[in-house]
Amino acid sequence: MKPARHAREQGVRPQPLAPEEITLDPDDWEAFRAQAHGALDTMVNYLRDVRERPAWQPLPEEVKNRLHEALPERAQGLETVLESFRRDVLPYPSGNVHPRFWSWVSGTGSPVGMLADLLASGMNTLGLGFDDTAPSRVEMQVLDWFKELFGFPRESSGLLVSGGSMANLVGIAVGRTAKAGYDVRRRGTNAPDEPALVVYASSETHSSAQKAVELLGIGSARYRVIPVNAQFEIDVEALHAQIHADGDAGLQPAILIGNAGTVNTGAIDPLDHLADIAAGHDLWYHVDGAFGAIARLSASPPANLRGLERADSLAFDPHKWLHQPYNVGAVLVRHARRHEETFHIAPAYLDKLDGGVAAGPVNFNALGVQLSRSFAALRVWMSFKVYGVERFRALTQQNLDQAQYLDRLVRGEKALELLAPTALNIVNYRYNPGGLSPEALDELNKRLLVEMQVRGIAAPSSTRLDGRFSIRVCITNHRSRRVDFDVLVAETTRLGHELERAS
Ligand SMILES: *Cc1c(COP(=O)(O)O)cnc(C)c1O
Repeated sequence: MKPARHAREQGVRPQPLAPEEITLDPDDWEAFRAQAHGALDTMVNYLRDVRERPAWQPLPEEVKNRLHEALPERAQGLETVLESFRRDVLPYPSGNVHPRFWSWVSGTGSPVGMLADLLASGMNTLGLGFDDTAPSRVEMQVLDWFKELFGFPRESSGLLVSGGSMANLVGIAVGRTAKAGYDVRRRGTNAPDEPALVVYASSETHSSAQKAVELLGIGSARYRVIPVNAQFEIDVEALHAQIHADGDAGLQPAILIGNAGTVNTGAIDPLDHLADIAAGHDLWYHVDGAFGAIARLSASPPANLRGLERADSLAFDPHKWLHQPYNVGAVLVRHARRHEETFHIAPAYLDKLDGGVAAGPVNFNALGVQLSRSFAALRVWMSFKVYGVERFRALTQQNLDQAQYLDRLVRGEKALELLAPTALNIVNYRYNPGGLSPEALDELNKRLLVEMQVRGIAAPSSTRLDGRFSIRVCITNHRSRRVDFDVLVAETTRLGHELERAS
């Protein structure tokens, strides 16, 4: 095949617009360039100065009001809108780029990730895979790197998705198709002559797993919530008993979900043991490793992570502990054929051709729910290459070490109390000066946490553990330093005293 001639050689010259023709491109590219550089400068400064801002700040009423305006039928111009952005939007994010933001499980993003996003949005490619593009190859490359990092065979398949919830949905969907034993895509899960499928997961499993089970028509009545032990890991004996009981009742045990890092405490189920159980009962073994799987990159991965690489499907979130800008989740599936069998539909308008644009190397549409997708792979590709994977390994270890550091600080304070073992990168604690009722303690710690956030000091989140309100510090933050945890502990104690005195 001859290389295509450049468009200009083919006689296509830039033409001025006819008077009735319009476009979204600027009239004056040089003016746009200056404004775009200004916008980029804003964001570079924003990241440079992040530590000087509060961890979080509430929106003033006038800002809320300004963000509630009539449909802007008429053009306001880029400069005006950039001003609104700088004044009303930029100062009020979740806060997760801040070094003392530790709520939920969030990622920090990175300067290189931000740049990659700009480049990807400029290209605005489709992410189909069957389009013959460099971005298709970049995504395949990134997926191969992930297979290597998580110990999956090269011939396994994978997909970048919107996040961990979608990755869980995809993995569990493949499990449903693979283990139903009949054509579940055609007949659905309510086929009267087929046994009902059952899914197993611990009580600490993320809600997106139950959502997936419901969406897939298995139904939450067939979602077995297995209790956990004192380490918040799945109770293996109870799991065994439940699988047997379901089998005896004529149901079909089909999918086992293991946790590599639970949201509440970072607990890791005994993944190797669960792999044995799944193999023994012919279950699909899905691991939700949204953030915990990333600990495999650290110098000292927790022992329970062993066996992660035996999963049939693994969900994880590069936008969390790999510090990619939102959104990018990922799923790996050991059995590529099973993966494709779950989602493949071949409409005529998406036919692959022997040449041209529609002759790409892989059909990502046949591996998941989303068709068009952003070029999220570029973020991972660029940041792995620019920073080197060794940097991400070291950052993971740094966060694990910081969690142990905070654990020790809490133990060292008489008025503070740990509420769960620190198995990974999450520390649960509360202020407890002694002599208060359980209700009063909950109330005091709630107020303390809100106060800490509203004053912009730090932003942990909360959970309930064994019925007790807990301040929850999840460290997936490459900007946190040891001194930030000193601040957290000192301020918890100070605020605790202050609130106690005031009550
Ligand atoms: C965050 C998280 C999810 C959901 O991921 P999203 O990217 O927010 O959709 C699922 N499981 C676990 C363990 C998580 O931490």
